[in-house]
Order: sequence, then structure tokens, then C-alpha cells
Amino acid sequence: MLDETHAPGLESWVASANGHAQFPIQNLPFGVFSDDRGPRGGVAIGEAILDLSAVADLLPGEARALCESAAGPTLNPLLARPAAARRALRRALSAWLAKGAEPRPDLLRPAVQCRLHMPAAVGDYTDFYAGIHHATNVGKLFRPDQPLMPNYKYVPIGYHGRASSLRPSGGTVKRPSGQRKRPDEAGPSFGPCERLDYELELGVWIGGANELGTPVPINQAGERIAGYCLLNDWSARDLQAWEYQPLGPFLAKNFHTTISPWIVTPEALAPFRVPQAPRPEGDPAPLAYLHDEADQREGALGVELEVWLSTRQMRERGLPPHRLSRGSARDLYWTPAQFVAHHASGGCDLQPGDLFGSGTISAPTPDGLGSLLEISQGGKTPINLPSGEVRRFLEDGDEVAFTAHARREGFATIGFGECRAVIAA
Ligand code: MN
Repeated sequence: MLDETHAPGLESWVASANGHAQFPIQNLPFGVFSDDRGPRGGVAIGEAILDLSAVADLLPGEARALCESAAGPTLNPLLARPAAARRALRRALSAWLAKGAEPRPDLLRPAVQCRLHMPAAVGDYTDFYAGIHHATNVGKLFRPDQPLMPNYKYVPIGYHGRASSLRPSGGTVKRPSGQRKRPDEAGPSFGPCERLDYELELGVWIGGANELGTPVPINQAGERIAGYCLLNDWSARDLQAWEYQPLGPFLAKNFHTTISPWIVTPEALAPFRVPQAPRPEGDPAPLAYLHDEADQREGALGVELEVWLSTRQMRERGLPPHRLSRGSARDLYWTPAQFVAHHASGGCDLQPGDLFGSGTISAPTPDGLGSLLEISQGGKTPINLPSGEVRRFLEDGDEVAFTAHARREGFATIGFGECRAVIAA
């Protein structure tokens, strides 16, 4: 659904937005920021943040009501509103910020002077496992004889994660302690994680609500997606290997999850929708409740994601971050709409502000692996950094940053902002 807000030539009176690699006027992601005043809703535009509560009075009817819903410290009220209302707000904001409209720099805040917060209070967080190349690579390490379980191509595999330990980009991640059993030891011991890893994932923000007991049909599931972010599902591999059977991840995943704080809307990503990659010959077709022609035709996202590592020594020596991988959201086996339809198919009520992780996104090629577990092949192959340092897993002082961009010939490139944190002892 393309409109005037996607026009590649559209420019803003906010000069820093024009040609901005992340937040040109074609993006307009929602977030929660604070400055000398408390947390409230805003929109990223170039190097500035537009204060939604301040602009509300200047916008027409429906857009105004939505702005007012974003005046508080979480965007859950905005996420509760239907997609059509969100689209109306986008069009109103685009017109208001466009070159030719009356400039109101007094309603902007310099982004560098603002702090970004969790954009919503997340009631429930679910992590899927839809990166089929990741699932295959990791499966080979844990179960060489059967990398993919027989259910993988039928069920969008996932587990219920921990919402309380979600944090926005920035700050530190404390290395967890837990039970781990080294291969040469008879029994487990308790202590600091020795195989700390990241997972490159796309986050999916849920909008609207369905009643308990009422599934979301696949052809309506896309409307329940209010936006996307980057998500780092920090993973303690040694804890995971010991604890995961038979119920899956627990403490290996619940100590911290980092997200990029801007909600990039489905509207902003409309030009970057792509067909779901055809399933390899011999794979089963999705069951009917997961199959929708339009979703298969344009339900995947042409978003490129990158992982950057910077060690303490690299920063001290002024060396630039080292790119560990570059992948694409096209490499997901299930679409975001299939996540929604599957999650609600048994009657689970999805709430505005619920968050999904896609599962680790890995490319089929070695330059696009979404975790150190895969790059180092379970710790067997050292990763040589430009500083001369070697990594198999993360060490204290290491900073991991994810970035993502959507690019398409004839459209303005948009970005997701950053998902970054430093490992601390
Ligand atoms: Mn994960």
C-alpha cells in the first residue's frame, strides 16, 4: 500500500532528515524518549525527535487522537489502535514535516540530548525459531544426525520468553552465572557463563487485541503487526546445552534481551515487502491456517541486517567496529503474519505491546551467520579480529551492535537505528 509518504523525492524542513541513512521523512518510526521532561512518545526525524504530545493540537482529527494516546511513558495505547488510525497519523505527520509546511523547530528535540526507553510495556515476549539456516547450523552442532526436527517445516517453532529482562539499546549486559557442564566433567558446576553469545533477530511488535479463545485468521494477521525492531537474544550457550532438554531454553536466554528502541512501522516498510522465498522442492506446503496467497506474495521483508563487534582494545586503539556478518530477513522460513496466526491459532490472546522475536537470522553463506556459535562452529574455529585479538565467544568489554536497513531502487533507504550493548563481568 504505497502513497505520497513513500515518494523518494519527498524532503523535510528538518534538514538533517534529508538523505539520513536511518530516519528520513519516509521512515517516521515511533519511540519513547525523555529529556528534561519525563518519558513520552516521539517520532524520529533525522537527528531530531518530534514530541508527539506537543504536535497533537496541530494535527487533524484521527491523527490528533492518536498523538494524544502517545503522550504517556509507553506506546501501548497507540499500539492498541487499529492499523488504519496509525496510517492516518503517518500521513498527517508526513505532511506536517514535509518541506513546504510551516517549520516548527520548537517542537523538535535534538536526539543526542534525549534518552530512549522501551517503547512499550511488554506483557509477553515470544521467541520464534524461523531462521532455517540458523536452525540447521545449530541443529548440526547439537544433533549431527538430525539437524532439523520433523516438525520444523510444519510448525513455526517458538517458546515463551521473559518480558521483564527486555531492555532498550545501550548500557551493559551482565554476564550471567548458571549451571554448566563441561564435556570433560562428570557433573555440572555453577559459575559465570563461558560461552556467551548474541543472536541476530528481527523483533515484531503486536498491535490490537484478540479475545481469549479467538484465533487470528492468516489473512488478517498482518494487520496485527504494528511494527518491527532489532532484537538481540543474548544466549549463554554452555547453560543452554545443559538445561535445554526437554523443555527448551530457560536461564540461558532470560537474563537480558536488547532491542532497538524505535518501532519501524509496516507502513514505512511497505516498499520493501518481498515474496516469501519459495520452499525447497519436497518441503510440505504450510497447513491451510498458515497459508494466504497475499502473505506468500508480499509477506516477507527485504531488510538487510548487520552485526558489528568492537572489543575494549579496539575502542581504546581507535579501531572501527568489525563487521561479523550481514544477513537478510528474507532468510526466514515463516512470515511475520504466520507468527501471529500460529501464535493465536489455539486461542491465545495477543495484546498490544506484545513482542515476538523472529529467531536468529542466518544466511546460507558463511558471511551471514547470526550468532558466534555458528561463526566459530561451536567454539572450534577462532575468529580473528583486525586488532589481532581472537574470539570464539564474547568477552567482557566486547560491544555488539546490530544495524538494519531496507533498500530498494527507486525508494528512500530507511534504517532501524541501533541495537547495542557492552558485556560486563
Ligand atoms: Mn533466539
